[in-house]
Amino acid sequence: MIRRNPITGDPILFAPHRAERPNVFHEATVCPFCSGSEAHTPPELAHIGEPWRIRVFPNKYPATDVHEVIVESPRHDATFDSLTLDDATNAVRMYATRYRAHGDACVTIFKNHGAAAGASIAHMHSQLIATSFVPPRIAREIDAFTRAERCLLCEPIGDVIDETSQFTWVAPHASSFAYEQWIVPRVHANELSSDHAGELALLLQRASAAMRDIGDAFNWIFMNFRNAPAAHWYVQIFSRQAVLAGFEIGSGSAIEVIDPAAVAERFRAQRRQ
Ligand SMILES: [Zn+2]
Ligand SMILES: [Zn+2]
Repeated sequence: MIRRNPITGDPILFAPHRAERPNVFHEATVCPFCSGSEAHTPPELAHIGEPWRIRVFPNKYPATDVHEVIVESPRHDATFDSLTLDDATNAVRMYATRYRAHGDACVTIFKNHGAAAGASIAHMHSQLIATSFVPPRIAREIDAFTRAERCLLCEPIGDVIDETSQFTWVAPHASSFAYEQWIVPRVHANELSSDHAGELALLLQRASAAMRDIGDAFNWIFMNFRNAPAAHWYVQIFSRQAVLAGFEIGSGSAIEVIDPAAVAERFRAQRRQ
């Protein structure tokens, strides 16, 4: 159910049943995402491999009508960077397939890694939420892309950490979170596709390793812009070092405490090791 901020009209997803989610992050219970626990999840929507290596099913405690869980490995202790490149590539292909499975809805795909990043289950997974409305952040960014004379992401935006023929992994000069990085396609497109999935998977694996070196919690978010050809899609990745404090919440402005140039240098140095 959607409620609205009384002043701005910004949508709020009202989902009180999510409060019933068991918080099993640190508890030794049966993990519903492990191989052999398939009966503990709602009926499967898709999988890759026999037996499965990537599995998709509806979230048991959905925030909207379309809220999916994408488990990228049957192994409980897997991390994205510990997958084979083949499995990581298939995970990216699955993100793209599920992104396209929901017609014209606005689809957000994201990963919460670690309790401080919002994960309630330790077993690696990503999630997909489709909304009938365009979320305020997406709307704002589409508006900015549409008003700009030249595409804002076809231009350099920061210190390059690594690149492939199709993607650039960069620490933006102005970032909202410590150790923030973006993976940006080098050819203009407004939404994720399965083209060049292997190259994107490789950079996501390197970013995952870099994030786990910084701390035990990170998020990544696929910023897609459905029906907005002027916009340029990207993946935003950031470590969860600090909680959002009063000024950030009160003002909507971030305070940057880690120099992105140093972040890029640190991650580049890791790549050289
Ligand atoms: Zn598990
Ligand atoms: Zn562009």
